[in-house]
Amino acid sequence: PAHGEVVLEVQAIRKVFGGLVAVNDISFSIRAGQIVGLIGPNGAGKSTTFNLITGVLDKTSGAVRFRGEAIGGLSSRRIAERGVSRTFQHVKMVPDMTVLENVALGAHLRGHKGAISAMLRIDRPEERQLLREAERQLQRVGMGDLLHEQAGNLAMGQQRLLEIARALCADPALLLLDEPAAGLRHKEKEALADVLRSLTAEGMSILLVEHDMGLVMDICDHIVVMEFGTHLMEGTPAEVQQSPKVRAAYLGT
Ligand code: ADP
Ligand code: MG
Repeated sequence: PAHGEVVLEVQAIRKVFGGLVAVNDISFSIRAGQIVGLIGPNGAGKSTTFNLITGVLDKTSGAVRFRGEAIGGLSSRRIAERGVSRTFQHVKMVPDMTVLENVALGAHLRGHKGAISAMLRIDRPEERQLLREAERQLQRVGMGDLLHEQAGNLAMGQQRLLEIARALCADPALLLLDEPAAGLRHKEKEALADVLRSLTAEGMSILLVEHDMGLVMDICDHIVVMEFGTHLMEGTPAEVQQSPKVRAAYLGT
């Protein structure tokens, strides 16, 4: 996408669970090359919003447009194929496989239902292609030196980068990250921030759900604040930090 083009438009999406309005007509958009933060206290509806965008949950109402096309009714697999990729909060890797194999396998399984049948059906040229793609994405996140390391030996920060490399296979235009900095040390957070900045410099867009406010304020271009399912406010990091509404939501004052 051209820099500045609107990549994702979330239009009044709503999710009701029984009697609870978990996401109450939330709207926002993301442009190419932007990092948008989605923040709010626990239970605000951030994860549900994520699941509505990626097709993991069906919306009660509202629309989601990606690069100008409605993706609302599509399956999560089809949405991923269009170029929306995500990480999950809990990293799933095979500890005794190498970093490279983990990324290649993850990229392969992304498009398949059964892991075993998918592995049996893979042929040599396809395997080579997957390994090349995995290597390219690992280099992109600064893990080019660790291709043949056992995944089980990685530090937490490296595991998160592995997960991001996996989400980058097939070159998504939009990456959704679910708490990528949770449990990371300061240096690891800095390395993560550098990787995310380098991705957006290439024109990728990122939607970031993250509790680490230092990281959010440091790297986001724009921030959407949710509370009890509603859109509390949005703005630049400075505007959000100065907002009395946001302080009240977090501090209860
Ligand atoms: P956040 O990620 O901001 O902490 P969630 O999106 O996980 O918030 O949850 C928003 C609200 O929706 C919470 O009150 C939560 O208990 C509720 N909720 C989330 N998922 C479900 C579900 N599958 N069934 C019923 N209620 C849910
Ligand atoms: Mg959550």
